[in-house]
Amino acid sequence: VKASGKNNFQFFKQSMNEKITERLFLENSLRNAIGNNELFLVYQPKINLETKRVYGMEALIRWRHPEIGLIRPDKFISISEETGQIYNIGLWVAKQAIIDTKALHEAGHILTVSINVSSKQLENEKFIDDICCVVNEIGIDKSYVELEITESHIMSNIDKALKILNELSDKGFKLSIDDFGTGYSSLSYLKKLPAQTIKIDRSFVLDIYKDEDDRSIVATIIAMAKALGKDVIAEGSETQEHIDTLKYLHCNKVQGYFFSKPIEIDEFKEFVDNF
Ligand code: C2E
Ligand code: CA
Ligand code: CA
Ligand code: CA
Repeated sequence: VKASGKNNFQFFKQSMNEKITERLFLENSLRNAIGNNELFLVYQPKINLETKRVYGMEALIRWRHPEIGLIRPDKFISISEETGQIYNIGLWVAKQAIIDTKALHEAGHILTVSINVSSKQLENEKFIDDICCVVNEIGIDKSYVELEITESHIMSNIDKALKILNELSDKGFKLSIDDFGTGYSSLSYLKKLPAQTIKIDRSFVLDIYKDEDDRSIVATIIAMAKALGKDVIAEGSETQEHIDTLKYLHCNKVQGYFFSKPIEIDEFKEFVDNF
C-alpha cells in the first residue's frame, strides 16, 4: 500500500510537471503568436428564423501553433487572461473582425459582428479608448459592433461592470450578455444592464426537446427578456429538434452547428451568398 501510494505521488508529480511545462510553453509561444501571424478568426452565422436571414456573425479566435497545430481558445484564453496577454490579443481580434466585417459590408452583406470581451480586458482603463480607436480607424458604424460579455463576468463586479457597459453603450456599441443563465443575475440587475441581447447558454439548449425543466428555464428566460424589452438568441442549436423547439418557444434567433460551424471569412461569405 505504501509503495503504491508513493508511486501515485510520483505519477502525480510527473503529471504536475508536465502540466506546468505545457503551460509555460504555451505562455511563451503566445508572446509571439500575433507577430508570427499564428492567430486567426473563424465566424459563426447568427440566423433569424423568422426572416430566414443571416443577420450577424460571432468572431471566434483560433491559434495555429507551429509545433502543436490548431489550439482552441479554451486552452489559451485563460492563460492569456492570467498573464495579461489577453489585452493585446483582444484588440487584435477586434481589429481583424472589424476589417472582415467592413469587407462584407462593401460586398453588400450588411451584418453585425459579435466580439467576445473578457473581464480582464474591461478592467483595463484604456479599453474604451482603444476599442473606439480601432473602430474609428477602420471606419465602421459602432452599431454594427456587438460586444459579448459573459453573465458571470458582469455579476462578479456588478457596479464596475455597469459603469463600463453604460459607457460602451453611450459610445454606440451593441452589448450582449453571453452564457446567460449560468451567472445568477437578479432581475433588478438585468433591468439595469444596457445590453440589447441575452444569449441563452448552450447547456440549456442541449436537451431542450426532451427535458421539460430545461424547456421551462428557456421559456422563462425568453419571457423575462421580452418583459425587459431585450432580444434573445440561443447558442448551441445543433439539430432540427432544437430549432423546432426554439421556434415553438418564440426564440427566433439561433446560432449553432445546425446551420454552420464557425468558418473562415471566405467560406462565411459563400455561406451568406448561398443562404
Ligand atoms: P462562447 O463565447 O460561449 O462561444 C461559443 C462556443 O461554442 C464556441 O467555441 C463555438 O465554436 C461553440 N459552438 C458553436 N455552436 C455550437 C454547437 O452547436 N454545439 C456545440 N457543442 N458548440 C458550439 P470556441 O470557438 O471553442 O470558443 C470557446 C470560448 O472561448 C468562447 O465561448 C469564448 O468564451 C472564448 N473565446 C473565443 N474567442 C474569443 C475571443 O476572441 N476573445 C475572448 N476573450 N474569448 C474568446
Ligand atoms: Ca460568445
Ligand atoms: Ca457559451
Ligand atoms: Ca463562454
